[in-house]
Amino acid sequence: MAKRLKLVAEELARLGLTAVYPREWRRSIVLEGEADSWQQYIDAGYAAAGKGYKGVVNDVRVRGLEAPREYLPPVQGGALEGISYDAVIIGGGVIGCAVARELSRWDLRVALLEKEDDVAKQTSSRNNGMIHPGLAAPTGSKKLIYNIRGNRMYTQAAAELGFDFDRCGSVVMLEKSLYQLALPIVRVKALQKGVDGLDILSRRQVAQREPNATSLQHGGISLPSTGVVAPYKVVVAYAENAVENGAAVHLNTAVLGFEMEQGRIVGVRTNQGLIHAGAVINAAGVWADKIAGYADDRFFTIHGRKGTIAIIDKALGPTQKGVLALPRLGVKTHTKGGGLNPTGEGNLLMGPTAIEVPQREDWSTTAEELEFIISRHLGLNRQLRPRDIITYFAGVRACTFDEDFIIEPSEHVPNLVHAAGIQSPGLASAPAIAQDVAAMAVEILKTTREVKPNPAFNPKRRLAPELAKLSLEERGEAIKKNPAYGQIVCRCETISAGEIIDAIHSPVPAASLDAVKRRVRAGMGRCQGGFCTPALLEILARETGKAPSEITKGRPGSQLLVGETKTPQGEGSGHERS
Ligand SMILES: Cc1cc2nc3c(=O)[nH]c(=O)nc-3n(C[C@H](O)[C@H](O)[C@H](O)COP(=O)(O)OP(=O)(O)OC[C@H]3O[C@@H](n4cnc5c(N)ncnc54)[C@H](O)[C@@H]3O)c2cc1C
Repeated sequence: MAKRLKLVAEELARLGLTAVYPREWRRSIVLEGEADSWQQYIDAGYAAAGKGYKGVVNDVRVRGLEAPREYLPPVQGGALEGISYDAVIIGGGVIGCAVARELSRWDLRVALLEKEDDVAKQTSSRNNGMIHPGLAAPTGSKKLIYNIRGNRMYTQAAAELGFDFDRCGSVVMLEKSLYQLALPIVRVKALQKGVDGLDILSRRQVAQREPNATSLQHGGISLPSTGVVAPYKVVVAYAENAVENGAAVHLNTAVLGFEMEQGRIVGVRTNQGLIHAGAVINAAGVWADKIAGYADDRFFTIHGRKGTIAIIDKALGPTQKGVLALPRLGVKTHTKGGGLNPTGEGNLLMGPTAIEVPQREDWSTTAEELEFIISRHLGLNRQLRPRDIITYFAGVRACTFDEDFIIEPSEHVPNLVHAAGIQSPGLASAPAIAQDVAAMAVEILKTTREVKPNPAFNPKRRLAPELAKLSLEERGEAIKKNPAYGQIVCRCETISAGEIIDAIHSPVPAASLDAVKRRVRAGMGRCQGGFCTPALLEILARETGKAPSEITKGRPGSQLLVGETKTPQGEGSGHERS
């Protein structure tokens, strides 16, 4: 038995996982057999990681547990049957959309396929929106390289694509004064890692910078390069600019398999027909291993790690300048620990948690998780009370057992590129990942044809007016041109009918209530859509030419209206007035 395989077998035995069997496959390791619990499955995966293999494939079956369920849209005939694209991107999260925009710099036919009814439906809208400074990323990892580069690129991306980016900075506070001794070492590490700026703060300086910070802190470090964005808006911005530059976005389009010829992908099988592809980019988030498997290139397994995040009312936003965290040192964890961060739109986010989950689309939230983040983070800002939480949500990180990004052309399929295992800091890294992944795809295409720049490429996204950002005079001008800007629909967020109509007719049209929300925040305020939903529904129905009963919250089948409660006089039976 090879030395490293023996090491894995020994580690499994030490953990008591006697029914788990490791074997080598290509340059990776595959685990097979059975485990009694999900935790044992996870432990087995980590036992095989870090032993010098290219990847860990964990095919261990957990007794009594069903396989992960994947949402697939309804079969929709053959609208895309036979269409040819130079590059096909699978997944409309931040990675896929940023890659689409990068590829639209080239004179190529580019398509992005997304199984959900909109972009940014999975992990890319279910996160903290932090553009991390890079300090937490391990030395020598891809996470570090892409985080540092991606963070720097956000300033230009925000300017070109017109999304809000606030480099608000972060303060990582210390739990014990003893930890101050380690700060000079942290500074050197930060410098070696390429982190842009780090200041050591005394207890008093932390309090001066963040007057509402917990009094239990003992100084800390300030990281001025930390920023925040609304992640769903970043994704929409990338997707829209890609479409403006000629890319196609096909929603409700699930990839179900590949047609292979002599080891190459020649066709992408979808629920909308077979698409021909020159190069294929796997940016499928929590399902990236399944996509790799369609090409017989599954050298890694994704395991989902759920994180729950609470949203704090905008009224409390001004109580904090930047991100606040107080990591508990000595606790072995695969996450950065969470904290409290501004959103740039006025709210604060609290969390996230980190829980291994067998279901990769498990966005449920539980009282226990919420209680955990309240006990852990609420007190970091002394102004916050549990009643300030307006809602909460969860996202699932797409983790590999090696805990690093996989960004590379396939070793076995000459026209496939993987952008997989993109857990945190994937959002912060996205601009840099997209640049490299697009370059890899272009290299593949160059082997069979000439690839020229797109002469019409315009990096600037066309922007519709945002009333809340305009001065009174500017609002007056906008309303004069289009009276719909004068009709406020979402009172919490000050969103007008005109902005909602713009979103419905934008380059990646918003076709559901949640899609409108992701573009203009209608329904995201304190009342969480309690007042504006009926008006939004009416506008969506009118602008899309659908019946109100056809309008969905999101995925097909999520209609809000189930039938009429009143019928015209004389027609119904139970509801007429006598
Ligand atoms: C709780 C939490 C907090 C986080 N906080 C941060 C943070 O503050 N900063 C940061 O940098 N990162 C953060 N992250 C990580 C960040 O959200 C991810 O790294 C990033 O969103 C990954 O983007 P993606 O495009 O790879 O995946 P996704 O956004 O999941 O996109 C993949 C897409 O592929 C689609 N897809 C899958 N299979 C198919 C198929 N067969 N056919 C068609 N489409 C398919 C999916 O529907 C999905 O839309 C956080 C993550 C979580 C869960």
